[in-house]
Amino acid sequence: MKNRKFLMAANWKMNLSLDDARELLIAVKRTETNFNKVDVLIAPPFTALSLAYELLAETDILIAGQNMHWEEGGAFTGEISPLMLKEAGCTHVILGHSERRSLFYESSAIVNKKFGAAINAELTPIVCIGENLDEREEGKTFDIIKTQLNKSLDTICNQGKSHKKLILAYEPVWAIGTGKTATPAQAQEVHSFIRNWIMENIGNDAGQDIQILYGGSVKPDNVKELMTQPDIDGALIGGASLNADAFISIVHFYEN
Ligand code: PEP
Repeated sequence: MKNRKFLMAANWKMNLSLDDARELLIAVKRTETNFNKVDVLIAPPFTALSLAYELLAETDILIAGQNMHWEEGGAFTGEISPLMLKEAGCTHVILGHSERRSLFYESSAIVNKKFGAAINAELTPIVCIGENLDEREEGKTFDIIKTQLNKSLDTICNQGKSHKKLILAYEPVWAIGTGKTATPAQAQEVHSFIRNWIMENIGNDAGQDIQILYGGSVKPDNVKELMTQPDIDGALIGGASLNADAFISIVHFYEN
């Protein structure tokens, strides 16, 4: 019996002016969310973190960085450290998003370094994994997912780190920003594979506890069916999270 809470996580990517960010944050803050059923998280660009921290103070809405470096500080021009994210009010950080992997050549080994640094800094990592279209069409989805999990989470598997702070996000690359969503059955099949991997490699408790989010063109009209799948515990939302009505409707999916 599943007792994991849902998490709806907004990934704003490199979007929104500060004025637009303020408007969206205020709209999300105003909505009456049942935080017993669903947690809400916003990952704004770095320049809007302090605004989010200020506007969301005294709410239960969580704030995340979209990426970070694994070092605590030093000569790393253009990077941001785990401690800086914490100081800016983040409790979570998205790691290994497919855009980081494909556009910025981030390997799973690098994701694993960042993952270890997040755990050490007590930031909850949301580690993204997912296959691209060619890999799916060639029938390699499970091999790709398994390799990404083995390499991106090497620290937790081999160094006995606690799983208490870990969230996974399955994001089929072919469904991100394309309007193509994995069917609930396609998504569930991979989520169940991921949960089995967690049980085998981290442990049974971890398998029960760890939230696995789905990401890829989640919208108000497809969210409910996705969330009824037994191994889907929330969503990582890009495009639809930039629109207040759409995001709020996704957060309230259980009412429709
Ligand atoms: C994402 O960026 O993680 C994402 C899932 O984007 P979209 O919802 O736009 O597909």
